[in-house]
Amino acid sequence: MINPSYYPWGYDSDNGPDQWHKNYPTAKGRHQSPIEINNKEVHYDSSLLPWFASYDPGAAKTILNNGKTCRVVFDDSFDRSEQHQIYHLLHKCQRILKGREYPGATIYSMDATLTRKSRKFCHVLNIFSDELLSNCCVLISEVKSDSLQKKLSIAVLRGGPLPGVFRLRQLHFHWGSSDDHGSEHVVNGVRYAGELHMLHWNPKYSNYLDARRRTDGVAVLAIFLQVGETPKPEMKRILEEINAIKTKGKEAPFPNFDPSILFPKSHDYWTYHGSFTTPPCEECVTWIILREPIIVSSDQMAKLRSLSKNAENEPDHPLVDNWRPTQPRYFRMVSASFL
Ligand SMILES: [Zn+2]
Repeated sequence: MINPSYYPWGYDSDNGPDQWHKNYPTAKGRHQSPIEINNKEVHYDSSLLPWFASYDPGAAKTILNNGKTCRVVFDDSFDRSEQHQIYHLLHKCQRILKGREYPGATIYSMDATLTRKSRKFCHVLNIFSDELLSNCCVLISEVKSDSLQKKLSIAVLRGGPLPGVFRLRQLHFHWGSSDDHGSEHVVNGVRYAGELHMLHWNPKYSNYLDARRRTDGVAVLAIFLQVGETPKPEMKRILEEINAIKTKGKEAPFPNFDPSILFPKSHDYWTYHGSFTTPPCEECVTWIILREPIIVSSDQMAKLRSLSKNAENEPDHPLVDNWRPTQPRYFRMVSASFL
């Protein structure tokens, strides 16, 4: 079988989005992304739950330039049998906490399907998760299991429209050749300067590649980048590393990073079912697109544009305009978590 990544693709006229379908027929499918989000066509869904991220900084591994984007990679190897052990440890934490000042704390399985009833639990877990995890670490050091302690370095997304807990695999950016365009999704005719994608997969499937073949296999949290006066200082860490990954194929260590520092204040979101925005464009993505953009400076955007899509020893081509145009929505519904 031919590896689908065998066919070269890019964002130029000869290999760009208009050409992708020739080697990747799914790119002409009926559930493609990105799309234009238009307030008039969005419907408010009062049953949509809030979403929560628990990103352990220990899960961050490397930052790389693959010639198409700047990507931060996370450790998403998390064995289910170890997950089972941690579930029991969490119950032990629950007993400890019940004896203290948080009698209402309730811990469910990390695979717990979130329902309307568990909304309260989401809040409880979100508020106390740091203390719970530090208690877990105490327990783990008691059982002297180094590997288990290491495996606690997980990064997961849950709640919102998701049918369970999704595991963070990588984050990356899309941007333009100038500040007036660069995002993939378009909101009421507005194209932002860039778009951050945090890619998660559903661990009910045996691995990431398997998850990409399922309609509920992947969840992408998308955050728009808007150029403004008060840039988000939290972007600094990623941008500092840009010089180390200037050309295609370069990779640098990127330890101890919690990507939730990049979130805007509001967790309001739009959601719809779509696809990867890069070949093979599999239609496996539950999109969670945040309404509030994060503010970046023009200098920060220029830093992203200083990356090259060529390898070190090749003529210089700036890595810019790595976004796919919007695709037909067909009969898909876009839901909003807010009125
Ligand atoms: Zn993307």
